[in-house]
Amino acid sequence: MEMKGMTKNILIYDTTLRDGTQGEHINLSAEDKIRIAQRLDDIGFHYIEGGWPGSNPKDARFFNMVKKYPFKTSRLTAFGSTRRPQIRPEKDPSIEAILEAETATVTVFGKSWDIHATEILGVSLDENLAMIEDTLLYLKDRGKEVVYDAEHFFDGFKRNPEYTMKTINAAINGGADMVILCDTNGGILPHEVQDIMMEVMPSISLPVGIHVHNDGGLALANSMVAIRNGATIVQGTINGYGERCGNVDLISVIGNLQLKMGYQCLPEENLRHLTELSRFVSDVANVSPNNQRPFTGESAFAHKAGVHVSAIQKNPSAYEHLDPERIGNRRRVLVSDLSGKSNIEFKTREMDIRLGGNGYDSKRIVNEIKLLEDKGYQFEAAEGSLELLIKKVTGQFKEPFSLESFRVTIEKDQTGPSSSQATIKISVGDEEEITAAEGDGPVNALDNALRKALNSFFPQISEMKLVDFKVRVIEGTDGTGAKVRVNIESMDAQEVWSTVGVSENIIEASWQALVDSIQYKLLKDKKEQGK
Ligand SMILES: [Zn+2]
Repeated sequence: MEMKGMTKNILIYDTTLRDGTQGEHINLSAEDKIRIAQRLDDIGFHYIEGGWPGSNPKDARFFNMVKKYPFKTSRLTAFGSTRRPQIRPEKDPSIEAILEAETATVTVFGKSWDIHATEILGVSLDENLAMIEDTLLYLKDRGKEVVYDAEHFFDGFKRNPEYTMKTINAAINGGADMVILCDTNGGILPHEVQDIMMEVMPSISLPVGIHVHNDGGLALANSMVAIRNGATIVQGTINGYGERCGNVDLISVIGNLQLKMGYQCLPEENLRHLTELSRFVSDVANVSPNNQRPFTGESAFAHKAGVHVSAIQKNPSAYEHLDPERIGNRRRVLVSDLSGKSNIEFKTREMDIRLGGNGYDSKRIVNEIKLLEDKGYQFEAAEGSLELLIKKVTGQFKEPFSLESFRVTIEKDQTGPSSSQATIKISVGDEEEITAAEGDGPVNALDNALRKALNSFFPQISEMKLVDFKVRVIEGTDGTGAKVRVNIESMDAQEVWSTVGVSENIIEASWQALVDSIQYKLLKDKKEQGK
């Protein structure tokens, strides 16, 4: 069913920098916010809500700094509340702070729910209406485009529809350019959004937007229903960051609206940057990316079961809701003990490795992986180690160096911090090298000693660094003690790769992962040179 006269252009309004930072563990400096805002601008977001300058000095600093970075497409907005009770807007310092941000657009929120006016703010219902209208009149008078956020609109409407609509009329009379209906508590249901919007849309003469939280897990559904009922602006955040369970994830909104329903949100060619954007924002916010995030997650297009893998090689739509490349993600085939020959064949093609023997090589690789997985290895999150393994099994890899021996010592006395030293002996071709190094801990000391030993042979390893180190205890089988699996993530300027090691001894497991990490780096640099 298509709605009559429905516009197909949707304005995307990002509030990652303001509402998103209300999320637990989300902290963005003013500099971080500039970096994120520039990305959003590059991709073509229509509005970027930069912060609440009246509420904290960091946001005020951001608005000051951002003046040096004019945007190509996005309009920056400064957020704030309606004036305080019983004072004129021009006497309210927080409204002054909004104006000092010097943005062409400002966003003001007001109370739509009667009990929020009377019980929370402690003002009369009439004073609340006056606060909305006065504030907007004042800001319009200063030449601003004004976005009005109707806080708790849906909850308010459910309890006192008449008063809630009076607050909307106050915003219209104040000269609002658009009205955003908010589900601030995040508990509204899609059919309620539908019913309420069908009732109110005819009496709101302005463009209408939607702002929802995800407390019922329905933020995306509610945003989509609102759009289907005539909303043309959608507020949300990247990755759904936000208070409690978060805001709606704008990337999922855009993915569904534009790739499945024919709405126009962003320039089509920019959708390919959305996966990168999602990961960039999680990096800057220092929150580990959610692998299962729809559209952009690392696992969003990952296939594990052998039958699925052989099916997607015939036709990807057999197990994918859309082509991952349209959103900048990629199809992945996971290699694990569930996998058969088709996974290996897919993987080796992706790695540009040729297999011989008419299926003989892939069978040998599958067997080797099964053997190692039985010992506790996992290759799904260790693609660097997997590539080395495949090349070793098929005789396409010669180890660039080998270990003769290492020794690690750890010292600690009563008061001081512990210290670690490592001594290492390796051979490269006919040459031997012995080095020693210190480190914060034994693995760090070992890493330092290994790099020192290899440095004169392979200077390029100074370009790589370890970015993550994870240890997991795994159950021992057949009466052996517990083992640990170490996963190391490394990066250089071009790539991030991960490697794995397993042993009863954490130092030994770390060593395996470290060696794989360096060997992978040398291997990939050789491949680059060969190109
Ligand atoms: Zn919100």
